[in-house]
Amino acid sequence: MNQLIVQKYGGTSVGTLERIKEVAKRIARQRKVGVDLVVVVSAMAGETDKLLKMASTITENPERREIDLLLSSGERISSALLSMALHAEGCPAMALTGRQIGMFTDNSYTRARIKQIDTARAKKLLQENHVLVVAGFQGINEQGDVTTLGRGGSDTSAVALAVALGAGQCEIYTDVDGVYTTDPNLVPEARKLDTIFYDEMLEMASLGAKVLQIRCVEFAKKYNMPLVVKSSFVEDSRGTLICKEDPNMEDPVVSGIMCDKNQAKVTIKGVPDKPGIAADVFGALADVALSVDMIVQNVSEEGHTDISFTVTGADLNEAIQITRQVADAIGAREVSADKNIAKISIVGAGMRSHSGVAATMFRTLSAENINIMMISTSEIKVSCIIQQSQSKLAVQKLHDAFNLAEAPQAAKPLSSPKKAGGSKRVTGKRRAG
Ligand code: ADP
Ligand code: ASP
Ligand code: MG
Repeated sequence: MNQLIVQKYGGTSVGTLERIKEVAKRIARQRKVGVDLVVVVSAMAGETDKLLKMASTITENPERREIDLLLSSGERISSALLSMALHAEGCPAMALTGRQIGMFTDNSYTRARIKQIDTARAKKLLQENHVLVVAGFQGINEQGDVTTLGRGGSDTSAVALAVALGAGQCEIYTDVDGVYTTDPNLVPEARKLDTIFYDEMLEMASLGAKVLQIRCVEFAKKYNMPLVVKSSFVEDSRGTLICKEDPNMEDPVVSGIMCDKNQAKVTIKGVPDKPGIAADVFGALADVALSVDMIVQNVSEEGHTDISFTVTGADLNEAIQITRQVADAIGAREVSADKNIAKISIVGAGMRSHSGVAATMFRTLSAENINIMMISTSEIKVSCIIQQSQSKLAVQKLHDAFNLAEAPQAAKPLSSPKKAGGSKRVTGKRRAG
């Protein structure tokens, strides 16, 4: 049997009929080398947003079940068109929906999780020499209803299929030629990384580097599936390899800066300060699988306190609705929301063994008069919530402060006696080139 590669083409890669034909030519060429291919596609660029807008024009609160049925059509269109384009190239191919590829999920409409993939049909079709062109982002639940996997979910469809089918690697084709130190469309000095570790990429994805959906990185890490991010717009894109940490290499203190503007802050004022309140608030949000990111509780004054937390912009309306119900039940004074915020984060595996990184971040923001509203840290990241209007400046200044535009130097294995002492940014071979 040939080696199997799973590829995923994002919205811009299949954004026009011309692009679809280009991608078909690329796939047909690769097929000739003798690899089996499963190709996962996103909806054509802008299509999902267009469908969401249609839904919100009809009603303010569309049912999530119906949203999923609506949105899944975007990926079906691109898979059918790409399969036709492959036929025109003389390449045997078959377009398949989430249901047809055997993608089973839980019942959480609009943010479903994959439970199982029935690969029997896919394996048979691959044996019959077809390129499988799979509509990404979708599956079915146990009732047989269509579900979707959250924005950017085609990345996760691709990695899950790669794991289930035992592919050698999963290639994510997009409009940039890899993972950069920060969004290259916002900061021209951003530098492409040749390699990045799963843990770093996990943080970057969860902190707003939308180049990969976080679930896809979780899958890849769990099953040790090599993930390559490449451009579909250039022929020989070397891309970025996302892989397991190499214990023989020192890690860069900061690998990347992320900016997530798709964040909103909810504040509950005048909350009675007594045991069980946080459990009530966050329990109610957890009951509907709504994820909360940062949480801050003020020092209590006269038996009352304020609690603030952040959610994604898409979850804001639902979060406000639920929080208001809980606030009424617990006798809190009011609930307010702020959408004009951004989360700025620095990520790097080397933070584990270097101190002063957070202080450098705070100093850099303070020098620009940027107020920090919330802070959260983990072993390998520091995040700050700031005003959205200051986010671009913050990213640029932090990129400078941590010297990220600078090309890394030669390889420095940990065991080397000539280890770079005193250098603020220690680099490893994985960064070279
Ligand atoms: P696709 O439609 O192919 O899934 P996305 O728009 O979801 O593409 O992701 C690619 C985009 O991610 C790039 O155009 C870039 O603007 C953005 N991006 C954000 N942060 C990064 C980063 N650190 N490295 C590369 N791209 C990034
Ligand atoms: N089309 C969906 C979105 O725009 C899924 C994806 O592109 O991966 O979020
Ligand atoms: Mg994407």
